[in-house]
Amino acid sequence: MARQHIHRLTCLRCGRHHAPESSSTCDACGLEGILDVEYDYERVASTMTPEALRSRAANHWRYWELLPLSDGTRPPSLHLGMTPVDEAPRLAAALGLRSLRLKDETRNPTCSFKDRASSVGVLRAREEGRAAIACASTGNAASSLAGFSAAVGLESFIFVPARAPEPKLAQLLVFGAHVVRVQATYDDAWELCQAACERYGWYNRNCAVNPYLVEGKKTAGLELAEQLGADLPDWVVVSVGDGCTLGGVWKGLQQMHRLGFIPRLPRLLGVQAAGSPAVARAFAAGADTLPDAGADTLADSIAVSRPRNWRRAVRAVRESHGTLVCVEDAEILEAMRDTARLSAIFPEPAAAAATAGLARAVREGTVHPRESAVVLVTGNGLKDTRAALQATRPPLDLPPDLDALDTALREHRLL
Ligand SMILES: *Cc1c(COP(=O)(O)O)cnc(C)c1O
Repeated sequence: MARQHIHRLTCLRCGRHHAPESSSTCDACGLEGILDVEYDYERVASTMTPEALRSRAANHWRYWELLPLSDGTRPPSLHLGMTPVDEAPRLAAALGLRSLRLKDETRNPTCSFKDRASSVGVLRAREEGRAAIACASTGNAASSLAGFSAAVGLESFIFVPARAPEPKLAQLLVFGAHVVRVQATYDDAWELCQAACERYGWYNRNCAVNPYLVEGKKTAGLELAEQLGADLPDWVVVSVGDGCTLGGVWKGLQQMHRLGFIPRLPRLLGVQAAGSPAVARAFAAGADTLPDAGADTLADSIAVSRPRNWRRAVRAVRESHGTLVCVEDAEILEAMRDTARLSAIFPEPAAAAATAGLARAVREGTVHPRESAVVLVTGNGLKDTRAALQATRPPLDLPPDLDALDTALREHRLL
């Protein structure tokens, strides 16, 4: 069961060290003290060489030495990770940017970036001999947990608030998750899940208390480094809710820099919704506390009033000499339309927010037109068709008649 590559765990708040097998938050800091997994890099470097990587399968398990899993564990064969990085020249031109590439996370098994974290969660649950895994979520964390539980044959319990969007609920049910719909808010669902995990011994996938999920998210950064090498962009753009995604991507990039796979590090552009701006505000204020902020945006996957991993995100942005911007819902809808039309990748609102933030950063002069960027497209737009329909014009409703078609085409200036 040895996880010999793990050196220790360190509290992101107070810096205190913990044993490599700790699985909760810092004793001294409570829920505020999220732990970070530190590796023995000499040991990692001795086997995770460029030559060794060349002979490994092109998926997220290829970085095994940098994942918190035991040597004897076998991952499911469901393809995960090594998502494509596509050039988007027409979208770049629309934004006024020299070069723009999109890392297409919509191609993961349950159509979002969250699969990277859930896949590690279900394997840890199995290693610990748990009968079930649970989380509280309305969205992609839940559907990916349901999907990866199905992949490895684990029971899953998902606590959703009453207002969970229907396509995401359907995804949970079809993967066979036990869905508990809590007639209250998300925060209430979260508390109930927490209590149930303690009572029944279920493995807790909630990012706030589990230090290992970010390690899964990190593989997107590891991949970017390996896929792009010396051709890394000036900016990597990531939308931010709790902050685990941005923090994870940065950790992956840093590790690959440390291991000599890339010559330098890009800057991070974190993007939040203007209606849910806690991390951006904490970054701007430079204080060690989280300001009160709302969670009012149509981008449900980044609507978070009290982000759990804000310290990690703020630190990452600072270390990268990057910045955070906020975008209005109207900008998100426009970016959703533009990304789909000009690159053929269909993002959900939280994913489109990243493109919207890049557009804003170019307009405001934070990102220079001659610079290059990679946007992480974190989730698929089919999960939220209501937002897509809100972003677009309705179809032409017509009888089956060529003259009627002709009139309509002229009216809409399509001829
Ligand atoms: C979860 C999520 C994010 C943000 O990730 P955090 O770790 O909460 O910051 C962005 N986009 C999509 C589609 C997500 O599901």
